[in-house]
Amino acid sequence: TQRVVIIGAGIVGTNLADELVSRGWTDITVVEQGPLHMPGGSTSHAPGLVFQTTPSKTMTSFATYTIEKLLSIEKDGHNCFNQVGGLEVATTPARLEELKRKHGYTSSWGIDARLVSAEECLQIYPHLNKDMVLGGLHIPSDGLALAARATQLLIERTRNAGVKYLQSTPVTGIGRAAGRVTGVTIPGGTIPADIIVSCAGFWGVELGAMVGLSIPLLPLAHQYAKTTAVPSLVGRDLNDQINGKNAALPILRHQDQDLYYREHGDQYGIGYYGHRPMPIKASSLGLTSKNVDEMNMPSRLEFTAEDFDPAWRETKQLLPMLRDTEIADGFNGIFSFTPDGGPIVGQAPNLDGFWVAEAVWVTHSAGVARAVAEVLTTGRSQIDISECELSRFEEVQLSRPYIEETSAQNFVEIYDILHPLQPRESPRQLRTSPFYAREKELGAFFLELGGWERPFWYEANKELLNYLPANWKPVARDGWSAHYYSPIVAAEAWKTRNAVAMFDMTSFHRFEVSGPGALGLLQLLSTADVNTTPGTITYALLLNDQGGIRSDVFISRLEENLFQVGANTATDLAYLTREARRQNQKQFVQVREITGSTCCIGLWGPRARDVINEITTDDFSNKGLPYFGVKQALINGIPVTAFRKSYVGELGWEIQTTAEYGLRLWDTIFQAGRIHGLIAAGRAAFNALRLEKGYRIYGTDMNTEHNPYEAGVAHGIRASKWDDYVGKAALERISASEQKPARRLRCLAVIDGRSMVLGKEPVFYNGKAVGYVTSAAFGFTIRKPIAYAWLPGSLGEGAGVEIEYFGRRIKATVVAEPVYDPDNKRLLA
Ligand code: FAD
Repeated sequence: TQRVVIIGAGIVGTNLADELVSRGWTDITVVEQGPLHMPGGSTSHAPGLVFQTTPSKTMTSFATYTIEKLLSIEKDGHNCFNQVGGLEVATTPARLEELKRKHGYTSSWGIDARLVSAEECLQIYPHLNKDMVLGGLHIPSDGLALAARATQLLIERTRNAGVKYLQSTPVTGIGRAAGRVTGVTIPGGTIPADIIVSCAGFWGVELGAMVGLSIPLLPLAHQYAKTTAVPSLVGRDLNDQINGKNAALPILRHQDQDLYYREHGDQYGIGYYGHRPMPIKASSLGLTSKNVDEMNMPSRLEFTAEDFDPAWRETKQLLPMLRDTEIADGFNGIFSFTPDGGPIVGQAPNLDGFWVAEAVWVTHSAGVARAVAEVLTTGRSQIDISECELSRFEEVQLSRPYIEETSAQNFVEIYDILHPLQPRESPRQLRTSPFYAREKELGAFFLELGGWERPFWYEANKELLNYLPANWKPVARDGWSAHYYSPIVAAEAWKTRNAVAMFDMTSFHRFEVSGPGALGLLQLLSTADVNTTPGTITYALLLNDQGGIRSDVFISRLEENLFQVGANTATDLAYLTREARRQNQKQFVQVREITGSTCCIGLWGPRARDVINEITTDDFSNKGLPYFGVKQALINGIPVTAFRKSYVGELGWEIQTTAEYGLRLWDTIFQAGRIHGLIAAGRAAFNALRLEKGYRIYGTDMNTEHNPYEAGVAHGIRASKWDDYVGKAALERISASEQKPARRLRCLAVIDGRSMVLGKEPVFYNGKAVGYVTSAAFGFTIRKPIAYAWLPGSLGEGAGVEIEYFGRRIKATVVAEPVYDPDNKRLLA
């Protein structure tokens, strides 16, 4: 069996030991720098509020499992979760609306919850100021984690199962050989290991540095204070005080003022996120195992009372009975924040066997630990963890200034009402395509992804709205769905479908896979047979061992030993690079990212060929470059690679060149295209057009939880593929046994023709929540909003469902997909 070393005995490290033990792994050592009875990390003083619901299905599922597990960890008849419920109150109309959206998430992710009126809030929580509260969201299964107790019980039970614990033992180095870990260095020796998992919490940055890995987390102090005893609560008989269950009322959130509350017996605990960000460097804290106690621990800093003043004022407004109390004790406690708010989980791209599970809340701790244990023992977590992947960050997002600025911003915004498309304001312009200057001239509205500035639409196209035919006129949107949207999108879609448009495709990941081992590597990792004649593009899936989709890619064979992979994420690059390292031991193969050194324009629309023929003498006819063909060509003297494919479902090409020719390529196409009605179009139109055509987006529409049959991408699998590939055995089992998938990704059309949804909304059938929306857009072809949604397999075409949007039910029908050009006549034109 594998020798595992876990660094850190907080709630994450101890849960991981437990999850591994329960899967039969036994050779496990947990190394903790502090004393085991109170290690001194964030867990040692976490007040333990568990609000489960977030926009993320993954994070919500982690929380739900954490509760389930804490309820099951028992000693002397007492478990480790006080299920008092959770109440979030609204004191502003905007928050009241937001709670409706949040209630939608509870339905989407299967949590029992109820929107409650102001009166009901007061019944549930009598201490609230009745003049302030407008309504609330009540989630009975939320509550308080007894994190420190759970940690101790997990230590006890895993120790009994053979896990070794070393306390007061800092890990000071990581041993490596041949790209793999060999063990950890501790004072006076080493502990050999095949797998090391850093569960070091906010010390993760220091652990990462030991192996040359940038860990994108920022330790920040967060204020938590306890009041003196509340006179009216003194002497209450709380049923289970000895076991730490010293609260009876629900945990309470007042997000309009960045506040949360719990009871501690007759005292109140108040947490505050409204203060200035207070960044910390863990290595500056120092620690000796002697000075750790309840009041002195590295994760606990002096209380800065002046920062707490606004919180205290607001608190006395919301909870008038606290006016009779004082702040008895407060501290600035440290824990981790990240650029996107997600945890950091996964294997180091640069070092096999080095794993991290950091920036994890108590709320998600057991869920994350189970996921890591599942990946280590079986290669796949039952809950998709792509949004938590350490490797999800682009290189530019791993610099300390980026991490520090964005993580601090995340702290500031933690309770804010955020639109799903809302971009960060800073840092921006980190990555721009060679077309950026031209895009700005055209009045591009940019949104950011992975550091890239991406045009969503162009103000220059506004005048087209005057010429739009009646059946293309944009329909009015409600306030929320009109954010980060412009009616110009309709004009850009119209031009793409009826003339021709150019789209900046530069930000899409492009990798070059080359060398004698290239074919072997891609055959092994992908579901398609890519042993094709050079000049061919193939759509393929990358699966995990259990047949779950880990990505979908386009693999173009450019030469015998040269392939280009059009991929989705930085995680794909980490995966291909790691597997290439392995393959290299047999046959040389190199994986190289070329995204930034190249650029790409999608030239699409029924008149695309008219445009291209103006600027090239190469043959772009169906014979010269058939659908899914790729070739080198010259466009106005610029060497390009032309890929005959289209995300928007129209005739045309992705035209790629190296960065230095970018501007000239843009100008050439733009000028030649004008007489054919060409415009530049942005991602908002692109997204609508791709959805009409049924093209899935990895991560949004499907992920590792789904197999290709239920996700509707089985065309990426070649039955004839003779040799083995990752996931093949699992697929064979699935295809034999699952002719009728239990769930399916389906296309819905909104009946009223105008009610937009945005994604993640619950879908109801016969009044019962049965699924959730993944992507949505306006379907210009059918002149109705369309949405893709995961639904029970039994709900076939024609089924009538309802999508819940801010508490309103919108009627929709399951329709045949794709709604646009199902026979590919346009693509093949
Ligand atoms: P930790 O508990 O910090 O454990 C990491 C361990 O690694 C430490 O014990 C440390 O000593 C050890 N370690 C580090 N470096 C080394 C090394 N080199 N060698 C050996 N050992 C090492 N979360 C919620 O879900 N709900 C809440 O209500 C909540 N409230 C919070 C309030 C405050 C004031 C604070 C500070 C945090 C709060 N959190 C809350 C966050 C939560 O406490 C943390 O996210 C969680 O405890 C992190 O657990 P962990 O095991 O990853 O880290």
